Amino acid sequence: AQARTPLMAGNWKMNLDHRQGTHLVQKLDWTLRDAKHDMASVEVVVVPPFTDLRSVQTLVEGDRLALRYGAQDLSPHDEGAYTGDISGAFLAKLGCTYVVVGHSERRDGHGESDELVASKAVAAYRHGLVPIVCVGEGLEVRQAGEHVAHVLAQVEGSLAGITPEQAQTVVVAYEPVWAIGTGEVATPEDAQEVCAAIRGKLAELYSVETADKVRVLYGGSVKSGNVASIMAGADVDGALVGGASLQPEEFAAICRYQ
Ligand code: PEP
Repeated sequence: AQARTPLMAGNWKMNLDHRQGTHLVQKLDWTLRDAKHDMASVEVVVVPPFTDLRSVQTLVEGDRLALRYGAQDLSPHDEGAYTGDISGAFLAKLGCTYVVVGHSERRDGHGESDELVASKAVAAYRHGLVPIVCVGEGLEVRQAGEHVAHVLAQVEGSLAGITPEQAQTVVVAYEPVWAIGTGEVATPEDAQEVCAAIRGKLAELYSVETADKVRVLYGGSVKSGNVASIMAGADVDGALVGGASLQPEEFAAICRYQ
């Protein structure tokens, strides 16, 4: 994982309004500054609700904070009669670098298919945003031993339409559904097995050179106490962190795992 800059992304989900979010970002920045954190060694990203993004933008740009931010979802469309949806164009104007697509809470809770996730990833690139494409198996698939095949099919389906050039910057997050918000973290071996298989799939879909550039994250109950062992996997390039990203000291400790 040496050639790839590790990425730690905090997915706040539907937590923290814009005032609370501003407070968290300030505290996170202070903590990282105190620790003399170098963004070139580990990239730090926060992923707040849409309604916080303008406040986060003001703070990050105004105070020149050394962190990046993104959104939790976007519409596959650019504008028009799509009540309640948010365009990638708007997110780009708010200074977002990243956008999460295909989180299991959207796949399961909103019936999102690989096809829809792929169209969102394509829309992200249309607006200069980097998609963090989430994949991961449920408990039944894991227990049946079919997790690798399941995840690789999701990777292929969710990246349909992503060009070889775009694929060089894409981020893939492996998040076993049974480990999200459950406190049950995958073993380092489990995380490494699937992240390596994802990289192999990327090599097959694009090229070995491209696969070597892509950051593959693990997500599922990552905390400061387990992040180092997860990050020891050669193909694990970072983490997508839910619950633990709501506490600035804890998230900063995750970012400072090295
Ligand atoms: C997530 O929401 O992507 C996630 C991994 O959540 P948690 O860290 O709380 O399991």
